[in-house]
Amino acid sequence: MSPIDAGENYRKIRASLPPEVRIVAAAKTRTPHEVRDVIAAGASIIGENYVQEGELHRASLGDVGRAVEWHMIGHLQRNKINKALPIFDVFQGVDSMKLARAMAKRADGPLRVLVEVNVGGEDSKSGVAFEEAAGLLRGISGLGNLCVEGLMAMEPYCADPEDARPYFKRMRRLQQSLAEDPPPNVALDILCMGMTHSYRVAVEEGANMVRIGTAIFGPRE
Ligand SMILES: *Cc1c(COP(=O)(O)O)cnc(C)c1O
Repeated sequence: MSPIDAGENYRKIRASLPPEVRIVAAAKTRTPHEVRDVIAAGASIIGENYVQEGELHRASLGDVGRAVEWHMIGHLQRNKINKALPIFDVFQGVDSMKLARAMAKRADGPLRVLVEVNVGGEDSKSGVAFEEAAGLLRGISGLGNLCVEGLMAMEPYCADPEDARPYFKRMRRLQQSLAEDPPPNVALDILCMGMTHSYRVAVEEGANMVRIGTAIFGPRE
């Protein structure tokens, strides 16, 4: 078995995708050293699921970490907001007014966010219900200091990624319909969907940001 070279994996995936598709290197459970390797290979966005791990990664990487964007891709608990604000550049998992209000109250400047949509309507997943996404965008718009940059979604697990295609299509249509008449402070430029197993299909269906962990760093222990 050859050792995993996260930097080389990143470079191969980068070369295989259109330049306008941004890659979030999903770094949960990885060491600061592994994260450093993918940044050295050109990664410009690191995705974190846990506030504490994000803090550790950033603190360990110093100036190297300041050269990239840090995205919170996990569900942000309201009691972690104060800790998370200085660590992350973008909060991908905003899915309720309760969370958005709590973030807006604590932020001392504009916050960049993506609204997470529960595209499969699964009880086990976070994300605003598909039908409620437009209302949530209007509500967030009214808060004033949250800037929505787009949508994110985690599709239901499908053994065959082809089966995930309808969910990606659904998200693309939602993005397009919301973009027709967005409220103030809301842009719908980013459509973040697709993971190791599914990112190729997601990109075919219009994703311009993908979140990839395993295909870069190898299987998690
Ligand atoms: C872990 C994770 C990913 C990446 O998953 P892989 O299948 O390892 O690529 C993407 N998005 C979120 C929210 C994750 O937690």
